[in-house]
Amino acid sequence: MEHIIIIGNGIAGVTAARHIRKLSDKQITIISAETDYFFSRTALMYVYMGHMKFEHIKPYEDGFWAKNRINLIRGYVTQVDPVKKELIVGNSRIFQYDKLIIATGSKPNKFGWPGQDLHGVQGLYSKQDLDLLEVNAPNNQVCRRAVIVGGGLIGIELAEMLSTRNIPVTFLVREKNFWDGVLPQGEAKMINEHIQEHHIDLRLETNLVEILSDDKGRARAVVTDKGETIACDLVGLTPGVTPNVGFLENSGINLGRGVLVNRFLETNQPDVYAIGDCAEQGEAIGKRRAVEAVWYTGRMMGETVAQTVCGNRIPYNPGHWFNSAKFFDIEYQTYGWVFSDRTKTEEEQHFHWRHAQEKICLTVAYERSSRRFLGINTFGIRMRHEVFDRWLNEERSADHVMEYLVDANFDPEFYHRHEKQILADYNSQMGTKIRPARKSLKRIFQHN
Ligand SMILES: Cc1cc2nc3c(=O)[nH]c(=O)nc-3n(C[C@H](O)[C@H](O)[C@H](O)COP(=O)(O)OP(=O)(O)OC[C@H]3O[C@@H](n4cnc5c(N)ncnc54)[C@H](O)[C@@H]3O)c2cc1C
Repeated sequence: MEHIIIIGNGIAGVTAARHIRKLSDKQITIISAETDYFFSRTALMYVYMGHMKFEHIKPYEDGFWAKNRINLIRGYVTQVDPVKKELIVGNSRIFQYDKLIIATGSKPNKFGWPGQDLHGVQGLYSKQDLDLLEVNAPNNQVCRRAVIVGGGLIGIELAEMLSTRNIPVTFLVREKNFWDGVLPQGEAKMINEHIQEHHIDLRLETNLVEILSDDKGRARAVVTDKGETIACDLVGLTPGVTPNVGFLENSGINLGRGVLVNRFLETNQPDVYAIGDCAEQGEAIGKRRAVEAVWYTGRMMGETVAQTVCGNRIPYNPGHWFNSAKFFDIEYQTYGWVFSDRTKTEEEQHFHWRHAQEKICLTVAYERSSRRFLGINTFGIRMRHEVFDRWLNEERSADHVMEYLVDANFDPEFYHRHEKQILADYNSQMGTKIRPARKSLKRIFQHN
């Protein structure tokens, strides 16, 4: 019987395993180093914040794997030999495979800062990081101040986590505004305000220079490029992640930033595939990034590769970009492409609306010449994925999106609706006279 080995039990690896099992009787082994069982990495923060226990973020019962004949091995793969079709776990255990799926995820970036390996300095990626955070920052007596370095999605999560335990946080962000390499300026500025309202000491355009040690090898302070020394007991390093592929150097598997794959998620070596955060697309897929470290793309790649290894070779087709996140209590969603002021082209125009009092806003991106709708970001308004997918497929105009915006709204009943104000602002900025359509369930579900 064909033996499929999957390295990594994250969302990408376990999705591949589950779908291979659905499609076939093949022998399946998952080898992974971090935990015995798959857990939801995106929910780690809720464990620290006390909303859930670690057990609650394991989507499958422990017996699920044996029941589905998926063999789990806890161990670190140190070498892969694609010619002999074998790999080594730890120092000596050799496993033979017929097909190999690499799903080893990411690792947190470290940029060689002096002091980055001191006690009390850590990232937030793994279960071990969560456990370490309980040691480094159980409360505000042990951790009197934390400094977080790197203003992305994980940095703001860590800030929220620590502030739920009343630990004062200083947040060093290299950019002019929070996450403004991704968000348009209006949104990035709104999130700056929101962070500060949560009593986070946000330092924009500020870089870490060095982390100072006490006489026991523990971090005691950071020095910034503004010449300041900030005393702290924890330094959270959250300046992004990189594919976790170091162990494959010299294996003969082509690497770029990640494991290089084609549209079928195949590497240069026969019967070796890569999926999830560690995969790098060799061929661009539209405007998508070559490495996409997000949950749902890992799941989609897992489903796709399962088809291919089971004989139905299909290309990876992620469709329109979408994503969601949370900035403290503000929900963020994005559909299609809305580039930041720093990264957008001349052709991409933005209509931005912000609520006069509350932290609610949206940005609609459209093509200057044709007004074709390109994408939308919303903060504090929940939208329907299928509706935006359809409008993007149908290449609707921004005017159409504004007219029918009510169809896309997915906020629960009794939430305040903002379409009228949004449309009034749009009409006044664009010189249009669009009247809002009435919500129609028939239209919303027409093609589903
Ligand atoms: C705190 C946090 C919050 C996040 N929030 C969101 C969110 O809200 N939305 C979103 O879309 N994404 C989010 N992400 C990103 C998302 O979690 C990742 O994109 C996703 O988990 C990647 O899945 P994966 O299966 O590719 O890899 P991983 O989940 O990283 O799993 C890979 C596994 O392989 C193991 N491994 C690595 N190398 C080896 C080896 N050589 N031998 C054996 N095992 C190995 C690793 O230890 C790891 O357990 C978040 C990430 C973090 C850290």
